[in-house]
Amino acid sequence: MDGFETNEGVILIAATNRPDVLDPALLRPGRFDREIVVPNPDLAGREKILRVHMRKVPLASDVDPRVIARGTPGFSGADLANLVNEAALLAARRGKRVVTMSELEDAKDKVMMGAERRSMVMSEEEKRLTAYHEGGHAIVAINIEGTDPIHKATIIPRGHALGMVMRLPERDQLSLSRKKILADICVAFGGRVAEELIFGHDQVTTGASSDIQKATRMARAMVTRFGLSDELGPIEYGENQEEVFLGHSVSRTQNVSEATAQRIDAEIYRIIDDCYRRAHQILTDRMDDLKALANGLLEYETLSGDEIVALLKGIPPVRTPYEEPEPQRGPGPSVPQAGVPRSGPGGIIAPEPQPGR
Ligand code: ZN
Repeated sequence: MDGFETNEGVILIAATNRPDVLDPALLRPGRFDREIVVPNPDLAGREKILRVHMRKVPLASDVDPRVIARGTPGFSGADLANLVNEAALLAARRGKRVVTMSELEDAKDKVMMGAERRSMVMSEEEKRLTAYHEGGHAIVAINIEGTDPIHKATIIPRGHALGMVMRLPERDQLSLSRKKILADICVAFGGRVAEELIFGHDQVTTGASSDIQKATRMARAMVTRFGLSDELGPIEYGENQEEVFLGHSVSRTQNVSEATAQRIDAEIYRIIDDCYRRAHQILTDRMDDLKALANGLLEYETLSGDEIVALLKGIPPVRTPYEEPEPQRGPGPSVPQAGVPRSGPGGIIAPEPQPGR
């Protein structure tokens, strides 16, 4: 920077979350010489960060930081510190002397998806619907190639979701293949299709709105950004580019013709329609599995990926007697509190918003 010639040995370091809105004068040559981008840690980084924070808490021998690291894509260092802290609190609350894998898992779910809301009143019918909806996601995920393995399926409401199926990537995803995106769109429709197949066209709920949003965004990105549509070719269609200045959009440029915009819409529709049909086909073929899994979810509420695989082979999960994790909760139905919406790491969880009413 200007004026530092006489002060040799001075290093000036600055950090920002919004490099897009910096005054270009600051970035001229001779001002800040190096720009270092610090992204959220990758799998190996998360494992090391976890090990650092875990040093401060007594751990059971079953704790594997790598498994936790795998399940926390997109977490920042601070998120990971928070996770270990939550796990320690949970262990203390449960009267344990050491933090076990189960506390870390529960803490991860809490940090990612909000606290469980066991006290929320759900009618039997809503539970059944949620079980089939989540079961639908899971069965499509199991029967389609190229998607991430299932980590957990649950019908216990958390945060804003009535239930969810979590899938875990084997490693951090740096790029996505066409096959994987299409498989993910199919999985996203699994919930809606299952509702339709089991409860009929008229009983389909608003529960799939976030699935539909996610699927539409992926399909749109395939066509307009990733060049993955044969119909429209490897071209970036920069529709509604917005110039962002200090968080406010100040200008919009439209650089696709009306005719192209129509072709883009038609192609998005085709992708969505194909995936919907594939999900429909899988669930029709695997109706017995869907029913078995939905019943399993109704009985056990939460099933791990391994338990789901076993359940579909007819082996019921083994459960140790239920331990009350949060004993301070009051009995009886309570008013569901509005949880703070959290934006989970993309693509891993499929939270369902509550049906609006
Ligand atoms: Zn869903």
